[in-house]
Amino acid sequence: MIEKIEIEKCTGCGVCDIVCPADVIHMEPIDDPGDLPGFAAGDLLPVIRFREHCITCFSCEIFCPEQIVDVHPSVKNRPRPW
Ligand code: SF4
Ligand code: SF4
Repeated sequence: MIEKIEIEKCTGCGVCDIVCPADVIHMEPIDDPGDLPGFAAGDLLPVIRFREHCITCFSCEIFCPEQIVDVHPSVKNRPRPW
């Protein structure tokens, strides 16, 4: 199951959202960029929106170009055929 995204290292590329087959990760606009240099309010960053839907396929971890997504090998849901 997905554990976390090191958001301070994220480039906002959106790959994790695109490759997730269970729609767990959503790119959402940030209100306050705070400690995230290079980002402005309204820029999109990934949010683990529906962790309980994760099927532990590791796609987000494998395809993140920055290698900042951590998926723990414990499986909470069986892989589904879609
Ligand atoms: S491990 Fe698979 S199902 Fe879980 S968040 Fe990543 S891409 Fe989505
Ligand atoms: S794939 Fe990695 S760098 Fe790209 S938005 Fe997702 S967490 Fe950030």
